[in-house]
Amino acid sequence: MRSDTIFAVASAAGLGASAMVRVSGPGARDALRRISGRGVAAPQRLSLATLTDPETEEIVDRGLVAWFPGPRSFTGEDVAEFHVHGGRAVMAGLIDALSKVSGLRVAEAGEFTRRAFENGKMDLTEAEGLADLVAAETAAQRRQALRQMEGALGRVIEDWRRRLLGALAHLEATIDFSDEDLPAGLDHEVRSEAAALAREVASHLNDDRRGERLRDGVTIAVVGAPNAGKSSLVNHLAQRDAAIVSASAGTTRDVVEVHLDLGGYPVVVADTAGLRDDAPAGDGGHADVEREGIRRARKRAEEADVKLAVFDGCRWPSVDCHTTALVDANTIVVINKSDLGAPAPPLAVNGNAAHPVSALTGAGIDALVDALTGAVAGRCTGSAAPPLTRARHRSALQNCHESLDRALLAPSPELCAEDLRLAVRALGRIAGRVDVEEVLDVIFAEFCIGK
Ligand code: GDP
Repeated sequence: MRSDTIFAVASAAGLGASAMVRVSGPGARDALRRISGRGVAAPQRLSLATLTDPETEEIVDRGLVAWFPGPRSFTGEDVAEFHVHGGRAVMAGLIDALSKVSGLRVAEAGEFTRRAFENGKMDLTEAEGLADLVAAETAAQRRQALRQMEGALGRVIEDWRRRLLGALAHLEATIDFSDEDLPAGLDHEVRSEAAALAREVASHLNDDRRGERLRDGVTIAVVGAPNAGKSSLVNHLAQRDAAIVSASAGTTRDVVEVHLDLGGYPVVVADTAGLRDDAPAGDGGHADVEREGIRRARKRAEEADVKLAVFDGCRWPSVDCHTTALVDANTIVVINKSDLGAPAPPLAVNGNAAHPVSALTGAGIDALVDALTGAVAGRCTGSAAPPLTRARHRSALQNCHESLDRALLAPSPELCAEDLRLAVRALGRIAGRVDVEEVLDVIFAEFCIGK
């Protein structure tokens, strides 16, 4: 436990009906007493209190206070909460009052959660889930974050880690004790457990990055010939009520990005420069800029999770070959300008059904949005297993898998044990648990040495 006590405003900045200041550490009880005048408050209850400055005795506000004696608190330490009116002067007065209580200091960013982690209230994946929950902008992101915060991913990793530790303990027994003392087939048992774990880890890694995609936003590249109506379509999508999370111009002059909430999924739609059949010739000036725009458009399309290929209904059924070449299984095809006349069948490009729409009148847009949402959801959802949501989870699991592979090929039990230990450590990094020896001791103590 730490000896210092920290405090910080826990609610968002700005005016509001209420705001909350949290205090954590051994001095929390004293802070509560000096500011609210309460001796011992009832634990885990809100009670009404007059809050005063401990030096001037001036009243700062009338609010609610809560007392969470450790370890049954967010951080695991003694925690006091002050729920007050959310005005600037009230907050300033309360912060000022708290800084007059000796032993208290302002918390650093993330310090409360860090203490919660250090005191074993949550593992690293749960702390990350909490950060993602606060940052979540759409319903699907919220669901994923909440699940991780509640420990879904951490439990899978911890289960693997325990099984590996069990296998390692058995293997160490075969190294330390003579064969006669041990149950038969122990070596085989260890290998088959390591092989099973390697398979499970591999299948988890093979998740098409859906968790990271949902956390970061699914990218959609809008591609098509100039004047097909790409910008009009993106504008139409962006202006649908309640669809916009935020709209911002891209960092490059030729790609405009719009952030949307598509049926609960976060997407970033990139409107790219038109792909022209007759790439502009000549050098310098405008032609160079346009060629660069086309190069970037192609790159965007290649990197995007989903493509939206826009064909000009005025030219249909003639289609431009550059856009057609980009149409694959992850592409939604539209034929725009249906208001000028229904496009002639067959309505398909490269075997993908084409949606007739009009960016001008909005005809067909609902069906297009449904198709896009389906494609986006398909890239974010998969098996029921809790997804990896960060690159660091993936790289640690990859390390773990490599170590397991090596362990399975190891020429001696000693080398096998060393690789299993590395695999355990890689898993431990994900949840922030590195106390390998300690858990080994426990498992080894329970292990019956054949007698
Ligand atoms: P982009 O170059 O692909 O981004 O195409 P724009 O969105 O700039 O549109 C090119 C031209 O087509 C503009 O004059 C638009 O007004 C027009 N346009 C776009 N969508 C439609 C549509 O659905 N119907 C009609 N009639 N015109 C459209």
